Amino acid sequence: MIQKALISIGSNMGDRVNNCILSIKKIKVDKRTVALKQSSLYQTSPVSEIMQDDFINCAISIYWDSTPYELLRMLNSIEEGMGRKRGIPKGPRVIDLDIILFGDMVIDTGQLKVPHPDAHRRKFVIIPCIEIEPEAFHPVFNKKLKDFLCMIGDEQRITKL
Ligand code: ADP
Ligand code: MG
Repeated sequence: MIQKALISIGSNMGDRVNNCILSIKKIKVDKRTVALKQSSLYQTSPVSEIMQDDFINCAISIYWDSTPYELLRMLNSIEEGMGRKRGIPKGPRVIDLDIILFGDMVIDTGQLKVPHPDAHRRKFVIIPCIEIEPEAFHPVFNKKLKDFLCMIGDEQRITKL
């Protein structure tokens, strides 16, 4: 099964820019990946009550020649390899790799939810994603990703690096 996947990338610990770039290299090295597009880097405010540094975020689109579960497994193993510790939910992280869209599939299991359930509420997900895939479509809400932006408040900061 070959599907287009949109992946959101974020880091707010250590060398945040380098962490994002390194994770993209690791995704591209996998033989099941055909890299399509890569967004700009953005600096964004954390969406969490926990005091922590701003994030660097970006997004990539790929063709993925396997199942969405295998993609999640690959992303989780990159996170682990880069020293991600599962600490406080929504806390600081070296690297966070989330599957935002996987073709037009809707998946809702304990392990994997696609589209990512918070994607449409987060500028730091939507803005990098629509930079590279302007017509990206949310198959649950039947709306383009870009159409969620006007519903998000001003408190989420995002600036292009
Ligand atoms: P979050 O990104 O929401 O802050 P984590 O990065 O700590 O949370 O991920 C916790 C778990 O979320 C992962 O181990 C994974 O099994 C699950 N998960 C469910 N849906 C997705 C998805 N679309 N992309 C990435 N992880 C997901
Ligand atoms: Mg995650």
